[in-house]
Amino acid sequence: MDTRFFVIWMEEITAAVRAGRDHLTRLDAAIGDADHGTNLDRGFAAVAEALAARPPDTPGGVLVLAGSTLIRKVGGASGPLYGTAFREMGKTLGDAADVSAADLASALEAGVAGVRRLGGAEEGDKTMVDALAPAARAMARSVGGGGGGDPEVAFAAAAAAAEEGAKATVPLVARKGRASYLGARSAGHEDPGAASTALIVGALRAVAAR
Ligand code: ADP
Ligand code: MG
Ligand code: MG
Repeated sequence: MDTRFFVIWMEEITAAVRAGRDHLTRLDAAIGDADHGTNLDRGFAAVAEALAARPPDTPGGVLVLAGSTLIRKVGGASGPLYGTAFREMGKTLGDAADVSAADLASALEAGVAGVRRLGGAEEGDKTMVDALAPAARAMARSVGGGGGGDPEVAFAAAAAAAEEGAKATVPLVARKGRASYLGARSAGHEDPGAASTALIVGALRAVAAR
């Protein structure tokens, strides 16, 4: 996968977040402050602008620019967290011009580690980590085994794991972020950040399937 693939991934995320904006905001209205959709919509619109204004020449460059832009443009918790995930992924890819599914699997693991470090959330705390961590595991498992390193297979496995992880946040009680202020009342709702992670990884599957 070359630089262009990663630019198209970012465009696909921008479109998916735009289409899912109101749904994400409704999820956040239930257990947060009703801004997750607008936060990410603003952030990824800025990512698209930044990529057009300063086109990076490596896959890692695309992800680092996307991450830095999200950190700068998104006020909510999700900005620094997703920003760190993309920056860590980009740094892991380094200045390679072409990356394999195995490279991206390692990068995603580094991205998840960055989110964990910054936010202190573990799986089960009802955050984006509940979708990100299973996605990274599924991608690594696919490239290391049954998927034979095929990006389409690996990203489909990751997207399915992210969706499953997001749905599995519904019964959980939040232990991090704003939703944790609600205590037990946070149960019964899907975590907005886990839902947006499913969109982001789903966009990767869509681009590879083209
Ligand atoms: P804010 O809560 O500041 O309004 P957003 O609504 O954009 O920010 O994002 C909320 C999402 O961020 C949550 O649904 C959750 O998935 C994620 N999140 C919040 N705090 C943490 C954390 N400490 N670690 C991981 N993810 C977190
Ligand atoms: Mg919010
Ligand atoms: Mg907010």
